[in-house]
Amino acid sequence: TSARYLKVRVSEIGGDQYAIFVSDISEQRRFANMRRDFVTNVSHELKTPAGAISLLAETITDAANDPDAVRYFSGRVAKESERLTELVQRLIDLQKAQDARGTLEAKRLSVLAVVRAAIEANRVQAHNRHIELVPSFDGKPVADELTEGEPDATIRCDESAITTAVKNLIENAIHYSSERTTVRIAITRQHQPNQPGGTVAIRVIDQGIGIPAASIDRIFERFYRVDPARSRQTGGTGLGLAITKHCVEDCGGTITVWSREREGSTFTIELPEVASQEEERQS
Ligand code: ADP
Repeated sequence: TSARYLKVRVSEIGGDQYAIFVSDISEQRRFANMRRDFVTNVSHELKTPAGAISLLAETITDAANDPDAVRYFSGRVAKESERLTELVQRLIDLQKAQDARGTLEAKRLSVLAVVRAAIEANRVQAHNRHIELVPSFDGKPVADELTEGEPDATIRCDESAITTAVKNLIENAIHYSSERTTVRIAITRQHQPNQPGGTVAIRVIDQGIGIPAASIDRIFERFYRVDPARSRQTGGTGLGLAITKHCVEDCGGTITVWSREREGSTFTIELPEVASQEEERQS
């Protein structure tokens, strides 16, 4: 077990009587530590591209007479500023996901609609890397577009939170896979016999590099990256999964991961299934 921090206060309560108050401040301490680490991480992450930009600017000034060099270094400036923008956007997303509890709008949503939106948001990245995105529902292929009478499941979630979560998982699956591989997005309904309600699982399954066993417990931490060098090169921030986890939990769901190095990873979001509007009306 981790260390506990106790605050002790002695108070005179009249005459020569004293009372000792002991409060457990371990949680507060842990929270303060986490906040300090977070600020340190953010500063470090922001300083890296900011430092690179100022160095590149100097280089451009020095190379003013060499158009090729100017072009090359300007391109690098653009890349580094993109990185800064992405990081700031991710920080805003994280803040939103953390503050969201209670302010989210839980709506009845079609799981298929959420998955389609998340796939659509990743279409270009997948295409650029020749990666096929293959959705299925209870093992059967799903058409690209809404089809009359197709099987579906209903969840009760904030639309933006759950779409962000699925979108991030697909984005990572593409990111950490080789070209010409497949990313499957499998929706399955799980019903316990004789029990009301069930759950619906959304799995994002890749054939990518996988996650070492030693890292698997840490990947949902803010700023944790298995390979910071690779991740930075490919534009990772280490915030995506932290945001994803918040989003899923805000929707009353859970997220788990299975992975084996060089084989691939499977991220599973599980959410309670609810009655659709139509089913509700009929009952
Ligand atoms: P990043 O922006 O670096 O991708 P994330 O929070 O999304 O940050 O992920 C944290 C780390 O988990 C990544 O840096 C990567 O090492 C690992 N990871 C996440 N998804 C996958 C995946 N599908 N396959 C392999 N590794 C992954």
